[in-house]
Amino acid sequence: MNLQPASAKSRLVSIVVPAFNEAEGIAAFIERLVAALRDCEFEFEIWIVDDGSKDDTWARVCVEGVRHPQLHGLRFTRNFGKEAAILAGLRHARGDAVVVMDADGQHPPALLSGMLAIWRGGSAQIVAATKAERNTDSWTTRLNAQIFNRMMKWLAGLDLANASDFRLLDRRVVDALLKFPEKIRFFRGMTVWTGFATREISFEVAPRIAGNSQWNSAQLTRLAINAITAYSAKPLGLIFRLGLIGMVAAAALLVQALYSWHSNVAVSGWTSLTIVILFFGSANMLGIGVLGVYLAHIFDEIKGRPEFLIQERLVDGGQSNPD
Ligand code: UDP
Ligand code: MG
Repeated sequence: MNLQPASAKSRLVSIVVPAFNEAEGIAAFIERLVAALRDCEFEFEIWIVDDGSKDDTWARVCVEGVRHPQLHGLRFTRNFGKEAAILAGLRHARGDAVVVMDADGQHPPALLSGMLAIWRGGSAQIVAATKAERNTDSWTTRLNAQIFNRMMKWLAGLDLANASDFRLLDRRVVDALLKFPEKIRFFRGMTVWTGFATREISFEVAPRIAGNSQWNSAQLTRLAINAITAYSAKPLGLIFRLGLIGMVAAAALLVQALYSWHSNVAVSGWTSLTIVILFFGSANMLGIGVLGVYLAHIFDEIKGRPEFLIQERLVDGGQSNPD
């Protein structure tokens, strides 16, 4: 392992920022980011990935690009989702280290110097910023996060409690992630999965500079289902076990039915039968549903469509169309 980094000045750090409908706060965010990086000992570049915003996000990024030559941008043709935006940023970033952070100011740029210091020390290839507290979230959001993290740990074996997408990756980690051929991605889980040495640094989630969170419950549920089924085949095993339990229950009922028939007991057990039919009927549906999710994953992967399409680029202060 290379524990002795080269001279700091020769090293480039890239910041990748997915942004969706962040027009109101993006200029202030870029300002804070550049201020935090200006005094840093590394060269830096910023990649803002506009994930198909419907507001003026892209126009504002272009205005800022004129003032800051280190600022680059990609604009998607439509909203492809945060995961796709992170992937696009990772593909374009040229840094020896890449930091992924949100555009809304909730990931404080002030933390960057600490993250870079850990990376420079050479003891870790991933520096993960973990949320010190979730007090800014409502209790429903916290409960959702808790359920999601427990499920991820149980089903996918990934410990994501308090984890965020705010993380620094060494070039080796980025290259490893870019080699993954899969289309359905879950950045947070994938970096943990790589197993590279990780150090944590805690931060308090700041309030948004402007606007509201773009996630709705349906999107979060989809992310949770994707994250779990993309990382674990355990739900399939669970259905199998449920089926086995069903068979044992059915065998017990068969014995009871034969006994009733043999001892000429009048039609009894209608209630239990109804319950059993309802329970296993819905268990069947659930099972088919879970199979369906995996089938849909295979379908999506096998189509091999690109994860995103780029409408425009902002490179070195000048706008250009995709090549
Ligand atoms: N984001 C994105 N595409 C989306 C939704 C969100 O690129 O479809 C970006 C958003 O602009 C922000 C980050 O992902 O930079 C986190 O989004 P948000 O603040 O809505 O989520 P939360 O902070 O609630 O996790
Ligand atoms: Mg946010």
